[in-house]
Amino acid sequence: MSIISVLNPKGGSGKTTISTNLARSLHELGHSVLIVDSDPQGSARDWHAASEDNPIELVALDRANNVKTLTSMAANYDYVVIDGAAKLEDMIAACIKVSDFVLIPVQPSPYDIWAASDLVDFIKARQEVTDGSPRAGFVVSRVVEGTRLGSDVRTALDDYALPVCETTITQRQVYPQTASEGLTVFDADNPKARAETTALSNEILAMLV
Ligand code: ADP
Ligand code: MG
Repeated sequence: MSIISVLNPKGGSGKTTISTNLARSLHELGHSVLIVDSDPQGSARDWHAASEDNPIELVALDRANNVKTLTSMAANYDYVVIDGAAKLEDMIAACIKVSDFVLIPVQPSPYDIWAASDLVDFIKARQEVTDGSPRAGFVVSRVVEGTRLGSDVRTALDDYALPVCETTITQRQVYPQTASEGLTVFDADNPKARAETTALSNEILAMLV
């Protein structure tokens, strides 16, 4: 059992999109998965409610205190994927505490990367008192196809001294299109989106062992 949190207090960084697709991707790889909506906005809940036969189970947590209950719940699954809340408050702190891995999606802009600074400090402070848990890494999301990541983005990420996934998640219509039906890219005919999502899952699994 491993708990993967997808966190970034900045809205629009792609947390919910990545959480839902990552969860489904892990399911496709043969694992049992629970997705946890920890965001009071409830986007993952809305996504889940939009489809009648979603193969992924979802629970919603409204209070940071309830995050503790996850560790016992998680024992029934291979992976728990937590869709993170906006705002660096109790909920995010609680998620960091129970996580084995924190994935930080950032858009390819230095402003978005700088905005992750408090979250990174928080994770590193936790790692110091726990001998390195949770592990953490960035994924650059919403990258416009055909563009290369600017050197300013790479430099800004390097400063944090956390791993950056080789896989980037591309800006593609298929992500919001499938989300609106409560689905994921695994329900669409878009091999590139499926391939990048699967590659991201495999990278995370490799970092978890
Ligand atoms: P967060 O949960 O961090 O606020 P979301 O996953 O809700 O971010 O994404 C914010 C908006 O951007 C949503 O409208 C979503 O559909 C869109 N979006 C996110 N990732 C992608 C992507 N890879 N391609 C296209 N649109 C995306
Ligand atoms: Mg969200």
